Amino acid sequence: MERSRSTSDETAYQAWLSTRQEDAEGLCRHCGACCGALEDPCAHLVMSPEGRSSCSIYSTRFGLRKTVSDRSFTCVPVRDKLGVSWPGDERCGYKRVGPSL
Ligand code: SF4
Ligand code: SF4
Repeated sequence: MERSRSTSDETAYQAWLSTRQEDAEGLCRHCGACCGALEDPCAHLVMSPEGRSSCSIYSTRFGLRKTVSDRSFTCVPVRDKLGVSWPGDERCGYKRVGPSL
């Protein structure tokens, strides 16, 4: 039977997870390439005048989405796409780190 974690263990674990997530998110250069910036972009992709990408529905982004030309696709976590290629992926910080994420 699995032993339950103490409150301090759980707090430390949550802090570790949070730091790990921030480290991973820091790898993103906000180029927008994984959202189709260099081909047929997702309809929710927003590019700032400085060329920094963001998602207009970030907290609910995963699932069936459409591109600006009305093509359907499924938005997935970028770690699930590391084994495939997309235009501009040579610049992606996640791709450089690879599957250790
Ligand atoms: S391709 Fe990589 S670096 Fe560019 S926005 Fe997507 S995750 Fe970030
Ligand atoms: S919904 Fe997904 S593919 Fe579309 S902009 Fe947001 S993160 Fe990118």
